[in-house]
Amino acid sequence: MNVYDSDRMQDLMENVGYETVDTPEGADMVIINTCHIREKASEKLFSDLGRIRPHKNKKEEDGSQMIVAVAGCVAQAEGEEIFKRSKVVDIIVGPESYQTLPDLVGKAIREKKKQINLDFVPDNKFDVLPESKTGVGASAFVTVQEGCDKFCTFCVVPYTRGAEYSREVSKIVDDAKRLVDQGVSEIYFLGQNVNAYHGLDASGQVSSLAKLIEEVAKIDAVKRIRYTTSHPRDMSDDLLAAHRDIEKLMPFLHLPIQSGSNNVLKGMNRKHTRQDYFKIIEKLRESRPDMGLSSDFIVGFPGEADKDFEDTMDLVRRIGFTQCYSFKYSPRPGTPAADAKIQVEESVKDVRLAELQKLLTEQQIEFNKKAEGQIMPVLFEREAPKSKKRSSGDKIQLWGKSPYLQSVIVDVDSEEEAKKYFGKIADVKILKSRPSSLVGNIN
Ligand code: SF4
Repeated sequence: MNVYDSDRMQDLMENVGYETVDTPEGADMVIINTCHIREKASEKLFSDLGRIRPHKNKKEEDGSQMIVAVAGCVAQAEGEEIFKRSKVVDIIVGPESYQTLPDLVGKAIREKKKQINLDFVPDNKFDVLPESKTGVGASAFVTVQEGCDKFCTFCVVPYTRGAEYSREVSKIVDDAKRLVDQGVSEIYFLGQNVNAYHGLDASGQVSSLAKLIEEVAKIDAVKRIRYTTSHPRDMSDDLLAAHRDIEKLMPFLHLPIQSGSNNVLKGMNRKHTRQDYFKIIEKLRESRPDMGLSSDFIVGFPGEADKDFEDTMDLVRRIGFTQCYSFKYSPRPGTPAADAKIQVEESVKDVRLAELQKLLTEQQIEFNKKAEGQIMPVLFEREAPKSKKRSSGDKIQLWGKSPYLQSVIVDVDSEEEAKKYFGKIADVKILKSRPSSLVGNIN
């Protein structure tokens, strides 16, 4: 979501004449887009601002000006406090009001006064944002939903992103049509609770995510559809059926559970049990037996006992994931869990995280191994990062994605050949698997 927001801020500022540069040195403006999910998010912000300060001073010594804006969830959470702690900052703007950034920049320059906007106006935001240019390749993000009403006890999102809001179906379909005209083949629906989507359709009826997927799948040039991030409570039957019925919907789902223990899930206020999760996965696999599954895990949540952690390990063993994200619990100020009395020792969290990650890595390796010898449709997006350092005469490595979101690397002989594949789907015979990628030949 933050990558998407950063791209949109870039589009907004380019519309009023700014260009993107690679370094803050000499820049007329610096935007720091922050994420409050990260541990010690505000400390990181202030250390980044410390690094920006000499560049801003140098601009002023040269008789010029550098505008520094802090955007994102830390801006929303800390507000005016940021001005008090850092003289460097000119603008504070929240994740639901960054569409006003060009205005705020204009005012900061003209009035020589600090500017702040932390309003929650998501509807207006999407009406005002310019058409996406940045971050548009073979695949592009489309925000369909923002915010969260669930209030998990460890999470800051409901406080920084506000209540759940869904965009209208017609606006999302228009975005998708425009993006495919720019060469996009894969549409990635984004939302903090994407499967809680409840936007209005043309007849004023509330649509579901499944119906939205069905609408966008009707666009010929859309070849693949994905969505993230989902909540188990909102895995409706029509969405499960969409995985069976809509071929363009990729057989991969990121469905965070956070813990396999009902005690911990209750403490987290997740409002689902491990049994609910098993049931969803069972139905999902009935719809698409080849489904690749991913999840998020937090170990060492306050009160997590050995037995609770064992329940998580048991759930992972029984389900079998293809790639996951796992973290040690760390308190976020202002959330209920941060004040819980029974915090788990750091050393215990370290041991549990290592054990869980070992199992998840084994499952990922096993899943990738199964691809060896198979022929898979791969969407090629760009040259592989390492390949960019090749010497003349070396083969070019292309990077693409399998239906199960695995990275796939293939060699081609020339730049002309590489260009033929960018943005296209081609069958690849997988020759070798690595822990986090597959290597193959175009078939
Ligand atoms: S559902 Fe997700 S975004 Fe919402 S509070 Fe829980 S973890 Fe945070």
